[in-house]
Amino acid sequence: MIVVPVYNRQLIAEGNLYFQIDEWRNLGGRAVQGEKVVLLHMKDKQKRDEITEDNIYPIGVAGVVNNISRDGYIVVKVNNRVNIDEVIIDARHHIELNISRRIDTESVDPNYEKERLTQLKGEAKELASRFQYAAFFNMLIDIANSIGELNAILSHWMNISNEDKYNILKEDSAVKRMEMMEQNLVEFIEVTKVTTDATSAQEQEYKDMYKESAIKKQMEYLQKELDEMHPENLTDVQKFEKKIDEAGMNEDAEKEARKVLDRLKQEGKNSPETGMLYDYLDFVTGLSWKKQETEHIDLREAERILDEEHYGLDKVKKRIIQQIAVMNLKKEQSGSILLFVGAPGTGKTSIGKSIAKSLGREYARVSLGGSRDEADIRGHRRTYIGAMPGRIMDGISKSGVSNPVMVLDEIDKLAMSYNGDPASALLEVLDPEQNSTFTDHYMNVPYDLSDVFFICTANSTDTIPQPLLDRMEVINFTGYTPAEKLKIARQHLLPKSMESMGVSEKDIAVSDEVLETIIEDYTREAGVRGLRKRIDTLCRGAAVMISRGGDSKIEITKEHLRGELDMRPVHRENVPDKQKPGVVTGMAWTSVGGEILYIETVLIKGKGDIIITGKLGDVMKESAQIAVSLVKSIFPDKAELFEENDLHIHVPDGAVPKDGPSAGITMTTAISSLVTERDVDPHIAMTGEVSLRGLVMPIGGLPEKLMAALRSGVTTAFIPVENEDDLVDVADEVKDNLDIIPVTSVEEVLRRTGVADVKWREAV
Ligand code: ADP
Repeated sequence: MIVVPVYNRQLIAEGNLYFQIDEWRNLGGRAVQGEKVVLLHMKDKQKRDEITEDNIYPIGVAGVVNNISRDGYIVVKVNNRVNIDEVIIDARHHIELNISRRIDTESVDPNYEKERLTQLKGEAKELASRFQYAAFFNMLIDIANSIGELNAILSHWMNISNEDKYNILKEDSAVKRMEMMEQNLVEFIEVTKVTTDATSAQEQEYKDMYKESAIKKQMEYLQKELDEMHPENLTDVQKFEKKIDEAGMNEDAEKEARKVLDRLKQEGKNSPETGMLYDYLDFVTGLSWKKQETEHIDLREAERILDEEHYGLDKVKKRIIQQIAVMNLKKEQSGSILLFVGAPGTGKTSIGKSIAKSLGREYARVSLGGSRDEADIRGHRRTYIGAMPGRIMDGISKSGVSNPVMVLDEIDKLAMSYNGDPASALLEVLDPEQNSTFTDHYMNVPYDLSDVFFICTANSTDTIPQPLLDRMEVINFTGYTPAEKLKIARQHLLPKSMESMGVSEKDIAVSDEVLETIIEDYTREAGVRGLRKRIDTLCRGAAVMISRGGDSKIEITKEHLRGELDMRPVHRENVPDKQKPGVVTGMAWTSVGGEILYIETVLIKGKGDIIITGKLGDVMKESAQIAVSLVKSIFPDKAELFEENDLHIHVPDGAVPKDGPSAGITMTTAISSLVTERDVDPHIAMTGEVSLRGLVMPIGGLPEKLMAALRSGVTTAFIPVENEDDLVDVADEVKDNLDIIPVTSVEEVLRRTGVADVKWREAV
């Protein structure tokens, strides 16, 4: 048996005690496995050769050298507390002992100890990260089999006095000893926590940060789960994040959106920027970025839809069906860009809507009337306060898809200004080479417009810049004859109006005669807009009567019309029976359809001046000069008349500037009639440009002009022979009721009107 004095060690263990081999030897121990050992608890630290009996506490522990580990440790397995009954120290400082086993008065319930041990081990392990050799520390804790052992292991780091340790050792109740040790351990754990907390404040900061981010991640994850259950509770930022994830944007757009989202996150709620950033994200994430599949369109079904919603317009419908067929074959979503030209109310916009329906696509209408700024088309840069996307992207946004049928209305009303030319921006929109990467200034990223089916509308092509016009295929809407209007009113306008006013067929009867009277006397138009308004007025009146409790069917008669519509019949400029010499009926083309007009001429005493009044300025002036020269050359004997008088020509307002030259033949005939003093039948109307050689040259807008002539009571119309081909576009009703005479020369016109039978320059 060897005796080893130890100072300030926890000796109360049943279990293993660890000593470094060197330390063990210094204490006088032998590193021999199986050697019996008594450990003496010392009152103070003494060198072995100075130890006296007084230095030794009367209670120690006994055990055996259990193991000598390869990494330089001696493991002493301790079994019992012992009373040191006698100590004999010889001259060579060899210590001999008489010992007896010290019996516990109370023992510990092993299950309870096990439970406590697990708990304490857990807490102790939490400390591991605070020590340098965390793995070793953990290993030591793991091997502890009892609270005493754990205490012994940790005592190395503990700050309890030697005396306190002995006080535990001398306690005879194992339960109490365990309690005391437990207290030690808990204190040790807490103290270690506090001290390491304080000494490593910075470390703690990192830990906090780490902890915070871990918590945040956890929260985000949980929040996401919650959000999926309650999408209505998402914050704006989350909403946009989700939308960006799902939108399928192109690379540029996604990058820009995430950039803006990052800024939105950084800005406070009250920052002036926030609204702008929010609007931007709302706009771009609301757009449809996904390509739509091309669908095969059933031609017959498309045809049926077009016919169902619009009467007539056969040429337009045929062209649309052709386009659909081509799109089907080529598996494309757009084709040539169509330009519908015609007077207001001729159905240009509404057939656009039907086209969308027949294609099964969304419809978007973009009004360009009055647009004078490039930004109207292309948007404002976001640096501007109140910046907005342009009308094109706005239309796309409202349609909710990337391939709507988009009607660009009133493309002829674009104006140029110092703010850039909207027409050139529009060129890019309509150019299939460029529009797949159309970049709105507000969005600042490209958007693909190549699947949009564009339809433009205009009242006239005159003011449309040529490059823009070249991109489009013009389809004319020539206006409706009274018979067509009647059909439209009966089949479409009246039923629609009744439905929207809540009136049914058993409430009101409108005869064809009434509709005809409205068409003839209460509207004066190429389209049917006025007609629709009148019909609406009738139905509204009926609705009032029905709500007042009238129970009989309301029969609207021709005589009631004036009161019902609360308007006077429109002044119909029917041609008079007779005109003075010098006045001739012409046909003009205006942006609201065709019109007839009277060109008036008089001679007044003067010196050969020519006075032209009326609005059409320069264009008219040229035609007038040609007419005057022609007349002078046809009637050389009337030269004096022109020398001694001033000639006044008056052309009423109305026609579009481009149509100016087409008054040439009318002016020539009027001046001829003036000088020959032969009047022309006002029922004869004419149109045609004249050349100085006396030829009648072709003009535009023939169907509209003839329709207007018929409306006004004209019976005969002279048209340039080269316009004969255009007669296919003229309604049969017009052709049947008008005597249409193609003419080649001024002479022919003069002869046929009875103004003069001249043979002028026979060689023509
Ligand atoms: P535009 O665009 O040419 O000025 P709209 O398309 O606005 O004319 O048409 C005016 C009204 O007349 C619309 O209510 C439209 O439905 C109706 N309409 C025009 N043409 C027809 C037609 N051929 N058949 C049925 N309704 C028509």
